[in-house]
Amino acid sequence: MRRNIVAANWKMHFGINEAENVAERMVEIIKNKTEVIVCPPFVFLDRLSRVFSDSLIKLGAQNMYFEEKGAFTGEISPIMLKSVGCEYVILGHSERRHIFGESDIDIHKKVVSAIEHDLKPILCVGETLAQRKDGKAKDVVERQVIAALDGVDLSSVVVAYEPVWAIGTGVPADLDTINEMHTFIRGLVEDVPVLYGGSVKDKNAFELAHIDDVDGFLVGSASLDADVFKKIIDEFERAKGVN
Ligand code: PEP
Repeated sequence: MRRNIVAANWKMHFGINEAENVAERMVEIIKNKTEVIVCPPFVFLDRLSRVFSDSLIKLGAQNMYFEEKGAFTGEISPIMLKSVGCEYVILGHSERRHIFGESDIDIHKKVVSAIEHDLKPILCVGETLAQRKDGKAKDVVERQVIAALDGVDLSSVVVAYEPVWAIGTGVPADLDTINEMHTFIRGLVEDVPVLYGGSVKDKNAFELAHIDDVDGFLVGSASLDADVFKKIIDEFERAKGVN
């Protein structure tokens, strides 16, 4: 079902005390109508699930392995994520695909396993700059979406369009590109919420949120500051006319 979502991807940042302070500040100031999800590193999940327990903020993980348990040194299972209060899990982030070599097949297995274990997947898709320059952006994104979601019940799925060339650069994709790609993705997944990610900041959230097929944001570095993150949610709601 299409709905508004703003999610924070903290990546590999903070120690436990800093993470807890930022989370507590978020609980204090975020009272928005938009669904808000925070995805901290694995080792903070348990502690932050307590911080978020009486708040509107939902907890997500940044990755998981598809098996339930066993000899998979260093991996984290969906059962473990559920046991510490996760509702969401980011899957197929471009850093997982490009740094850690995750394939479409791996990501499909993770999506299926997440849903089987009652975790809502936030599936990240997006083309590299080279793929865009080659005129392959839509082919790449279509392949990623179809491979990951093949045969999957879409009712709990969220998709995040994150052009790799806009992540962490400080410069988001231009509005026409985002509009074109979101409309294209909407044609593939219909009512699934489609978030935009890639250098979303408090200063550009308003204009990005004006794009009709943008149902929310996946925010990286700007989500590390609770007040900036809150401003992004406020700007998103102002653009969408949520009050
Ligand atoms: C991300 O990594 O998901 C992301 C969108 O990062 P940033 O906002 O820092 O570009």
